[in-house]
Amino acid sequence: MTIAQRINQIRQQIPPQVRLIAVTKQVSVEAIREAYAAGIRDFGENRLQEALLKQERLQDLSDICWHFIGHIQANKAKKVLEHFQWIHSVDDLKIAQRLNRLAAELPYPPQVCLQVKVLPDPNKYGWQIPELLTALPDLEQCHHLKIQGLMTILPLGLSQEQILAAFQQTRELARTIEQRSHLRMEQLSMGMSDDYLLAVQAGATMIRLGRIIFGERT
Ligand SMILES: *Cc1c(COP(=O)(O)O)cnc(C)c1O
Repeated sequence: MTIAQRINQIRQQIPPQVRLIAVTKQVSVEAIREAYAAGIRDFGENRLQEALLKQERLQDLSDICWHFIGHIQANKAKKVLEHFQWIHSVDDLKIAQRLNRLAAELPYPPQVCLQVKVLPDPNKYGWQIPELLTALPDLEQCHHLKIQGLMTILPLGLSQEQILAAFQQTRELARTIEQRSHLRMEQLSMGMSDDYLLAVQAGATMIRLGRIIFGERT
């Protein structure tokens, strides 16, 4: 199957309002162009250097919306802000506050999601739930960030039931945050190649798909 055929197949499985982000880490510029030709406008990258090289070669595709989905090192925060419209991976208060300070100088506010760990996972970055709830007053002070919702990545090895439950828990957490703060939690960035149908079932508004569009990474 071609990239376009895979994209069309995925589109038929999900409601039209779900935003399909093509994750292009380790994917060639040519393959990105194929996805663009098939109608994709949202692209996700998790490494800054790799992303910048590709963005430079794709400048003619000026209506791409770039999403940063990887851990942000403090010294790269400014560049991430300058080159991405969305940041899904705001994973602790320190980086949120740093991004907020830097964003004050941007012409437009960055759209961000808070990356949460609804299940413990020592291999992943992200807020633990109590820590996030405690930080809500500080996050409300980040006026230069457009905090839009939550992002989550689940640990490997879960059953279908556990996956669905974890995505539903993420949605519940978004509700809890809205009740306890003035933050808007309209976006749920959840679901990857192996679990996006369950994520959509649980209310995902953005799914981030790599391998199922572009094939296995080497
Ligand atoms: C790589 C990656 C994805 C896409 O994963 P696939 O399994 O290739 O669909 C989604 N989100 C994040 C944060 C990633 O790093």
